[in-house]
Amino acid sequence: MNVFVLNCGSSSLKFQIIETDAEMIEQDGDKQLAKGLIERIGSEAIITFQVGEQASVKSATPLRDHKAALAHVIKWITAPETHIAGISGLADIHAIGHRVVHGAERFKGSHLIDKAVIAGVQECIDLAPLHNPANLKGIYAATELFGPAMPQVAVFDTAFHSTLPEAAYLYAIPYQLYRRFKIRKYGFHGTSHRYIAFRYRKLTGRQRKDTNIITVHLGNGCSACAIKGGKSVDTSMGMTPLEGLMMGTRSGDIDPTVIEFLMHKEGTSMEEIFSTLNKRSGLLGISGLTNDMRDLEGEAEEHQDRRAILAIEMFCYRVKKYIGSYMAAMNGTDAICFAGGIGENGSGIRKGILGNLEWMGIELDDARNATAVRGKEMLISSDKSRVPVYVIPTNEELVLARDTVRAVKSLPFPC
Ligand code: ADP
Repeated sequence: MNVFVLNCGSSSLKFQIIETDAEMIEQDGDKQLAKGLIERIGSEAIITFQVGEQASVKSATPLRDHKAALAHVIKWITAPETHIAGISGLADIHAIGHRVVHGAERFKGSHLIDKAVIAGVQECIDLAPLHNPANLKGIYAATELFGPAMPQVAVFDTAFHSTLPEAAYLYAIPYQLYRRFKIRKYGFHGTSHRYIAFRYRKLTGRQRKDTNIITVHLGNGCSACAIKGGKSVDTSMGMTPLEGLMMGTRSGDIDPTVIEFLMHKEGTSMEEIFSTLNKRSGLLGISGLTNDMRDLEGEAEEHQDRRAILAIEMFCYRVKKYIGSYMAAMNGTDAICFAGGIGENGSGIRKGILGNLEWMGIELDDARNATAVRGKEMLISSDKSRVPVYVIPTNEELVLARDTVRAVKSLPFPC
């Protein structure tokens, strides 16, 4: 099957076309045929398309909304000069898999999209007012442009964390607030944590029930997850992705009183404060320079920029604290796995996070850590380390494609 994987953000659209089916999943033989990204939808959009391993092609054109953006993608896919293997027209796309950010307590797995699923995603808008409407726009546009007969599947960022125990997901606020409004931790990046845990099992030959690990996804958004017996038992993001680790532009954990304090001191509106916490905090807020870890490391190294150094130190310190707390919560861990742009590439950051933890049985091998590169699964701890540490590149799009096949063909969903 050729699956069109679609991830719509508020002003962006990311897609991949992946050839996969039950046998290809079994043999890890899925093929990525093409991918692309459209940014700045609503104005002069910036478009990047790539066929297989060929060089990507950039262009710009005004695209007023997600439907126009998707129509632009379809035009490219079906253009005679594009030549995507096995795709000569829209009939060669067999199903669509959508990333949907928030499934709240309603969606505990991936689902074929019908009216009830759409209504469910709409109900979750309160909890994800920026993300779910964008995901719905993608679903509506795909229904119009691919036709109502095209099978579409929703894969939820929150679903993997539906196994969190009550003690981990509740906030210590009046219980009625949970009962009335479902205020609780939901967690995100679930597709990524689930994939990393799956690859860990493949790599080590372990069974799901023996998968007791901590996965750390460090990209622009960052989260950690405690996985016990193959199930997510705690995770750092909360009711929204703002909670937890320090991120590129998000603050992560913060005393909520700061918000009230800022409102009084500066007369700042609630909206403005949340915009600061989401878009102008984290690495960017502390360094005052950038949200990009690679650039920050450059500043720290070349110019010894004090705030760049501080931002990196804070980033590592917070990840270290979460790993420590999850080890306590799970009575230890069998492994720690890093993923995401920073987790996969940032050898200095991994060292900053796991340095001086030999007393806990964690010891990196400097040479292995330094040679880990993006896209390669690798053990980076020393042979003496009681807790093995791995880099396991994530692949959320692949999980989306595979779940789409499983939902369309009524196959089981191994976690
Ligand atoms: P997203 O979460 O948007 O998918 P990525 O997973 O690609 O983003 O992660 C982006 C982050 O990865 C950026 O902060 C980038 O600087 C960082 N990164 C990429 N390469 C390196 C590197 N070699 N060293 C440190 N950080 C890196």
